[in-house]
Amino acid sequence: MRKQIFKKDKSYWFLGIFIALFIAMIVRSIVVSPNATQENGVINVTRPIELSFSDVLRRSGDIKTMVVRGEEASGELKDGTKYNATITYDPELLTKIADKGASVSIDSSKSLLEGFLNWFPLLFGVLLIWWIFRGVRGGASGISRGLMGQNPTKITTGKPKTTFADVAGIDAEKQELSEIVEFLKHKDKFKAIGARVPRGVLLSGEPGTGKTLLARAIAGEANVPFFAASGSDFSGIIVGLGVAKIKEIFEMAKRTAPCILFIDEIDAIGQRRSSHSFNDQDREQTLNQLLIEMDGFANDTGIIVIGATNRPDMLDQALLRPGRFDRQVHIELPDLASREAILKLHAKKVKLAKDVNLLDSARGTTGFSGADLENLLNEAALHAVRVGHGEIKKSDLDEARDKILMGPKKNRKMRPEDIKLTAYHEAGHAFVSVMYADVTDPIHKATIVPRGRALGMVQHLPVDDKVSMTIAEVRANLSVALAGRAAEEVFFGANKITTGAESDIDMATRLARYAITTAGLSEKIGLAAIKQVSNFGGRLALENASEKTAELVDAETRAWLDNAHKDAVRLLTKNKQTVTNLAQELLKHETLTGEEIKKIISGHRKKTQKKNAKSKK
Ligand code: ADP
Ligand code: ZN
Repeated sequence: MRKQIFKKDKSYWFLGIFIALFIAMIVRSIVVSPNATQENGVINVTRPIELSFSDVLRRSGDIKTMVVRGEEASGELKDGTKYNATITYDPELLTKIADKGASVSIDSSKSLLEGFLNWFPLLFGVLLIWWIFRGVRGGASGISRGLMGQNPTKITTGKPKTTFADVAGIDAEKQELSEIVEFLKHKDKFKAIGARVPRGVLLSGEPGTGKTLLARAIAGEANVPFFAASGSDFSGIIVGLGVAKIKEIFEMAKRTAPCILFIDEIDAIGQRRSSHSFNDQDREQTLNQLLIEMDGFANDTGIIVIGATNRPDMLDQALLRPGRFDRQVHIELPDLASREAILKLHAKKVKLAKDVNLLDSARGTTGFSGADLENLLNEAALHAVRVGHGEIKKSDLDEARDKILMGPKKNRKMRPEDIKLTAYHEAGHAFVSVMYADVTDPIHKATIVPRGRALGMVQHLPVDDKVSMTIAEVRANLSVALAGRAAEEVFFGANKITTGAESDIDMATRLARYAITTAGLSEKIGLAAIKQVSNFGGRLALENASEKTAELVDAETRAWLDNAHKDAVRLLTKNKQTVTNLAQELLKHETLTGEEIKKIISGHRKKTQKKNAKSKK
């Protein structure tokens, strides 16, 4: 079970006490006020008489009872008159009076209260000042936060039921972190040997790679409470708030140790101290407080702080020193096998049709995080419900994937000539891709259904996560990428080409540049790696290259792209009929699968080859 605690703000207690005391003071001044009536000359006969100290000494024999409160005394004389007196508090004197037959009692409680009430205004002032300054120095837990009213510290806690079994595909990381579980479970064993256990673990990785999940699983495995807060909660408009909140959660954690204290988005506090934003100083204070807390607890407290970030490079080095986040675990985006494992894990919660092959889904989701994969199944389930499937079919998964990748389907009205051009553009990609089937990824599908910003697309399905490409593969991929624009030229003429090839050209340029400058695939440039840096405009610039080399790189990139473009034009011109046919099919069906595309191309080519052979005879 997860619970969310909104921690009560202690400062309200202080405020309450102050108000209560203030009221008490006012009440007292009202109660005491009858004295004033006497001064006004309204003398009441039942009122006690006033005795001075010398009166008391002189008439000590007349006193019947005396109650002493500090320096005030009251009681009854032997003749029945009531009196009030001011005395010097002196035990010997009191014994003397008692010896003369008076009953003397000392009311200490009342005198304390009186004393307190007398001192109250001063005390009130001092406390108030302390309270305000506490807010400034130690964090705005006092008046500033009390008055601001909002911003409670959100701390999620509870003993999570999550275990390592709920985390798929990151076995090496799980292995590495199981030591922490061991420590939390058998603290004493570690202590006996004198092993130094890490206090902090930094989990880094893209969003959705399962950092939070892993942290909860550690707590779940060790059966200890899990506190979670986010780094962004520690910054706000109120200076000092972060410091106070850090203190607060560490206090909580210490009370419940052993436990896991998870701080998500730790870069929000732990950013390197360089940028000059205006709340920099505040963040620095918060960071310092975090460091103080982490340095502060002894080795055997049993609090493990787990920080998560997707920008580990941004972190202040001070955080990474021994005794702090000295253990770092980086979680990569899942590879093919991991994606399949994650899909399988989450697929247990849904109903899959027989035609679903999760390995295929894993293939088509390069770059998806664990969270994306979970979302994929969820979207697929929603789609299945929407279209009335009783279970998730392959088509639902495809639809969900496209939606996640490209945004929801657009039912934007398109001009017929735009649709036609798109069909030829995509047919161009598809055809050249099939021509290079032996060196490029197989086609998954081609479509002219607009989605997001794309008017149509050809999707490829990698057989495996590629780690490297041969030079032939690079050149083939360049041809495929530029084939869309080539088709526009071949079928509509050079003056009808469109801006629709923008992303194709961008992709091709990046691939060519990478091959030439980084991968050493160009004979002209050779094996020297040329660093590409992005400058302010976000454009790529060459850093460690002479001007001459830079020019050479530009010329070479252009040459590669030109070659690829010419190659695509050549292939499309030679097979104009086949490509036209493919485009027509696309216009008719809007979407064609890889299989269908291959069938259309091979079928049509066979026909035309036969025809050609006949005519030659
Ligand atoms: P992060 O903290 O890295 O942003 P989360 O831990 O919040 O990512 O992941 C979000 C969700 O994605 C998890 O609750 C889980 O359902 C799913 N998920 C992510 N990675 C995995 C994984 N390796 N195995 C299983 N589920 C995962
Ligand atoms: Zn294109």
